[in-house]
Amino acid sequence: MNNGLDKKLKKILEETISAKHIIILEQLREPRYDEDIAEELSEKAVTIRKLLNEVHDKNLVQYARTKNPKTGWYTYVWERRNDKILEYSQNYLTDKISKINEKLDYEANNLMFACPCSEEYFPLTYAMEHNFQCKKCNGNLIEFDNSDIIQDLEKDKSEFVAELNKINKLKVGS
Ligand SMILES: [Zn+2]
Repeated sequence: MNNGLDKKLKKILEETISAKHIIILEQLREPRYDEDIAEELSEKAVTIRKLLNEVHDKNLVQYARTKNPKTGWYTYVWERRNDKILEYSQNYLTDKISKINEKLDYEANNLMFACPCSEEYFPLTYAMEHNFQCKKCNGNLIEFDNSDIIQDLEKDKSEFVAELNKINKLKVGS
């Protein structure tokens, strides 16, 4: 099994979690003690534990806790959950795609109106409610061609769909 963080997944994580959290995930090539990660990164253990807890909140890592019988202190061995990282990335992309679909629906199913005085545009219902009059300059709202916007959304969507298809093919261990 490859113990590196998959590049495609890393790219998606970079959009949602901080660079520090990603470094922590990359440190978990194998299950490790938080103190050891802290030492390798020359950071305080408390800093590393905080970052680990934050990625744990997202379910991207898990830990095993054991009590040292001599000192009575607990030690934590942390493990990266590649399956959950994949799931997290899939959910992220699925969510992006569904938001784009909502926007596409809105853009494609409404006749749009705008005034040359601004970049804003409105659906027909809004234009009718305002007697086709611009609130800013009182000029006439005229039909607005949103086909470029639809095209951009379609392009974004196909990129996210392609990305999702790629990561769906990944085989990751748990
Ligand atoms: Zn105007």
